[in-house]
Amino acid sequence: MAIFMLYFLILMKKDLMNILVCPVCKGKLTLTVDKENEKEIVSGSLFCGKCNARYPIVDTIPNLLPPEK
Ligand SMILES: [Zn+2]
Repeated sequence: MAIFMLYFLILMKKDLMNILVCPVCKGKLTLTVDKENEKEIVSGSLFCGKCNARYPIVDTIPNLLPPEK
């Protein structure tokens, strides 16, 4: 999972959001921005409609750990 975290931290720029995929199904993620600055998304969430899973972004750090089953 550390690899996923690093991957998303590097890519957490709004203009690169279209290449982000769900860590579970590799499907497209929908970004919801609650708060942002000039460079980064500060808080919000990434949503996968396929898995019905929401990955929160807190203090610019996306939490992309798949939900526990
Ligand atoms: Zn998914």
